[in-house]
Amino acid sequence: MKFEELSIHEDLLEAISFMNFEKLSPIQEKAIPMALQGNDLLACAQTGTGKTASFVIPVLDDLIRNGNKGTTTLIVVPTRELAVQIDQEIQGFSYFTSTTSKSVYGGDKGKDWDEQKRAITEGTNIIVATPGRLMQHLALGYVNFSSVRHLILDEADRMLDMGFYDDIRAILQHIPPKRQTLLFSATMPPNIRKFAHQILQNPETITISLSKPAEGITQTAYMAYPNQKNKILSYIFSQPNDFESVLIFSSTKRNVHEIVRKLSQILKDKTIEAISSDFEQQERNDVLMRFKSHKTNILVATDVLSRGIDIKGINLVINYDVPGDPEDYVHRIGRTARADATGEAITLISDADIPKFRRIEALIEKDVSKKQIPQDIGELPQWNKGHGSQNKNRKNFKKKNSNSNSQYKKKGFKRT
Ligand code: AMP
Repeated sequence: MKFEELSIHEDLLEAISFMNFEKLSPIQEKAIPMALQGNDLLACAQTGTGKTASFVIPVLDDLIRNGNKGTTTLIVVPTRELAVQIDQEIQGFSYFTSTTSKSVYGGDKGKDWDEQKRAITEGTNIIVATPGRLMQHLALGYVNFSSVRHLILDEADRMLDMGFYDDIRAILQHIPPKRQTLLFSATMPPNIRKFAHQILQNPETITISLSKPAEGITQTAYMAYPNQKNKILSYIFSQPNDFESVLIFSSTKRNVHEIVRKLSQILKDKTIEAISSDFEQQERNDVLMRFKSHKTNILVATDVLSRGIDIKGINLVINYDVPGDPEDYVHRIGRTARADATGEAITLISDADIPKFRRIEALIEKDVSKKQIPQDIGELPQWNKGHGSQNKNRKNFKKKNSNSNSQYKKKGFKRT
């Protein structure tokens, strides 16, 4: 379906065309028409599917047609990076309109606080906020959200995981009950369904895909003891490749800096940087900007970047270690192959990581090919040693989760 087939305002269509969007993505085909009719929405969609546009376009259309006096829209998101990114996308779509927007997030200096306060008190049309910082502004009594008519909760599962439930409930007290609420979540565990039931009214439900990596990602893995991992990285980069932009994930902040140090010794012609939640916000923005503009070739990150962040042209994602939560694997590797492109994901699996990787394979219902590097780097951990067959493992996982599957069916969700 093409964007011109939607009955949206021509100023919006023009911006969409400037952004080189031609056809709607599957989530957009389902969500935009429903949201344009004013319905509440409960959408289960992974990142990289185009979900941001699926809530930004209907909101902007309403603002153009029905007026944009004061703060009409509040978008609540789990991380600062996601807030900045959504705000940038809004600025693109609203280029030919008079809509204003501002991202409101914590960890900054006084100047940023003052700018955020001004934006809120002056009635900026769309506020994209993280819950913690918004609560700080709300506590000071100058926030007036009485004109809000759209509330969007993005990455709702992540927000609840991060312990923002009470903050979100408190924020809801400041917003008129008569509003349109759109809730997006990458996964739909029972706590999200319960939460959605509390805050949405007769929502339309959409499920695009349940935690499956995009088709365009080629996934492989290497078995490696921790002290062999750098040799494998060195081998990967020594092969002919077009890895212009590489994201490496590690679960711990300490490891991130150690990986940058080691890699800088091995790959002298590459620019390598680290990013983690320890960094000041300005530093995080600067590092991210250098990576986005390809001044930095390799970015080593903790899971601070695993969700929602949209950087075009990442060719390779490397999991230096296996994430504990199988969903995080899907989020991490989803940073490559964005919006129908292709990309590669390589995971280094130590002996201690094997059970975690088995859970990932069970979740994605796929065996990831385990490769070996040709040079001898000593004895490697054995994938099959001491474990039952993968199929058995997968069957157990399915059995364990069959209850939640049947709940999906009962609620009218569709697994695709
Ligand atoms: P999201 O899932 O919202 O983070 O979007 C992932 C990426 O896809 C972003 O770079 C969007 O700008 C891009 N995108 C979203 N929708 C479309 C579309 N219909 N056509 C082309 N690119 C899109």
